[in-house]
Amino acid sequence: MISKADAIVVGSGGLGSASAYYLSKRKGLSVALIDKHEIASQTSPRAAGLVSCARKSDLMIGLVKDASRKIEAFREETGQPLDWVHSGSLKIARRPQDAELIDADCERGRRMGLDVELISPDQANRLNPFLKPTGVVGAMRIGDDRYFDPAQVAVGFARAAAAKGATLLPKTDVQAVNISGGRVTGVKTSNGEIQSAVVVDAAGAWTRQLSEASGIRVPLVPTRQQLIVTEPLDGARADLPMVRIMDAAVYARPCQGGRLWGVYEEEPRFFDLQSLGARFDIKDMPLEMEVLRSAAFEVRDQLPVLQTARVREFRGGIPTMTADGHHILGPAPGAKGFYFASGCNVAGLSISPTVGEALAAWIVDGKPPWDLAPMSVERFKDKSWDEDELRRESAWQYRHFYGAA
Ligand SMILES: Cc1cc2nc3c(=O)[nH]c(=O)nc-3n(C[C@H](O)[C@H](O)[C@H](O)COP(=O)(O)OP(=O)(O)OC[C@H]3O[C@@H](n4cnc5c(N)ncnc54)[C@H](O)[C@@H]3O)c2cc1C
Repeated sequence: MISKADAIVVGSGGLGSASAYYLSKRKGLSVALIDKHEIASQTSPRAAGLVSCARKSDLMIGLVKDASRKIEAFREETGQPLDWVHSGSLKIARRPQDAELIDADCERGRRMGLDVELISPDQANRLNPFLKPTGVVGAMRIGDDRYFDPAQVAVGFARAAAAKGATLLPKTDVQAVNISGGRVTGVKTSNGEIQSAVVVDAAGAWTRQLSEASGIRVPLVPTRQQLIVTEPLDGARADLPMVRIMDAAVYARPCQGGRLWGVYEEEPRFFDLQSLGARFDIKDMPLEMEVLRSAAFEVRDQLPVLQTARVREFRGGIPTMTADGHHILGPAPGAKGFYFASGCNVAGLSISPTVGEALAAWIVDGKPPWDLAPMSVERFKDKSWDEDELRRESAWQYRHFYGAA
């Protein structure tokens, strides 16, 4: 056990490990990456691994484009493996109002330099025969999108951080961030205290629990997300474009000769991590197959294969949602040296390389290389969140992740 570090990152998921890696790259900085479970073992390795470039804002498109380049260069950058496939994707509208939104998405994407085009339902079907044209009223091809192996990102960044000198402390529970005179002074852990003037709360589903233990309120909600990997299917090539069906909020991509697919359900299941006890592990999260069954039924005309394919793997995790759909990144007001890397809105793994680099710059240089004000926790300072309201707005953001009207 170490007694001090220049920066402590709590949580070794994608967001924390990437932050620790980019901090460790800064000369002379000692970094500790702490996790109460095994390194990179919680929500991050259970993700789907989709990179979605056509987003609702210019900022998100810019960040995801940058992250996409970093995923491509991951092996050269970190020395760690990362398998990815540049498959592109198809965004599908089944209602006229969503088709109009796709038009706007396409315009924004083109302006931002993405390889996007509107295509007919039959063209979409030719690009991916698993997608049937029945009931499709609008389709956009996004050439920039790719998918990657979610199990390799967080562990890769953590190992690369260690190779740059970071200390990895698995099985070490951070019980509180010590704050004195408005400044962070370190952390209290299950194995003793560590002094530091900088602490990053990248505790994923536990983000709120950790910051609230030190009196800092952060409005995010731990939210279940589940997916299925099917047994191999005839014709399921790895380079077939991924599919996203807007109003049903269903996504599917190739995986190990079959399909990996999931849904942003209408009534998401939220968790209060405090009530689950100190030993709770994401692998013990209750899964609910019925949610996936009814989603498969909802898209039976477009993706009939989801109804018949045999299930090889059923898994889920607990990402965090915010009321406006943006991450929570950067300094916490009122506690100098306290930073957040959280509020991933079910899209934090793909963007983690860019977020990690930006946060390291924010901590070391005093400002990030992007204007990340829309992600700062400061944006909530004039609002006192009632829990029901927070959950209601987060549920809306969750279900409307693909921008359906
Ligand atoms: C089914 C599913 C599909 C998804 N699909 C995608 C996708 O296609 N693309 C995408 O980009 N994202 C996707 N996501 C979201 C993605 O998984 C998350 O955005 C990302 O993994 C969040 O990483 P994290 O670092 O915040 O959390 P985690 O990976 O959960 O890491 C947090 C870590 O903090 C540790 N911790 C917590 N409290 C403490 C404490 N007090 N002391 C020490 N350690 C602590 C935990 O043990 C944990 O290891 C998906 C998620 C799921 C579940």
